[in-house]
Amino acid sequence: MQCPNCKKCETQVIDSRMSEDNTVRRRRECFCCRFRFTTFERVEPARAVVIKKNGREEPFERKKIENGIRRAAKNTEVTETDIERIVTKVEQEIFKGGEDKITSREIGNLVIDKLKKIDEVAYLRFASVYKEFSDIETFEKEINKMK
Ligand SMILES: [Zn+2]
Repeated sequence: MQCPNCKKCETQVIDSRMSEDNTVRRRRECFCCRFRFTTFERVEPARAVVIKKNGREEPFERKKIENGIRRAAKNTEVTETDIERIVTKVEQEIFKGGEDKITSREIGNLVIDKLKKIDEVAYLRFASVYKEFSDIETFEKEINKMK
């Protein structure tokens, strides 16, 4: 969102809070002039459609990605904050292109990319589910690639 003060720069969200009537209150700050202001924005439910491997379509649900990562990250160093951050980034990448259809494989790859940088175990577990390593050989290849 453009800064209403200098009308030149983009602003960043420094704080956001959800209210009961589905509006989100965002504190924003301008990158250049540091002008701060508050907006109230209606939350659009994510309209993206996920195309699954079997060709079926289902609405995009943030929760599902979260749960998938949480399962993979069990007993690892990955924190809830990490998970939150990963999902938010993935969501941004999905929606920034204005795409309204995405395959479950693409989502998986986005998550894998990010998990890889945080925790190897969680990454491998997640990758094994999403890429569906068909045999132990591909799984090992994947491990060796990391070394
Ligand atoms: Zn400004």
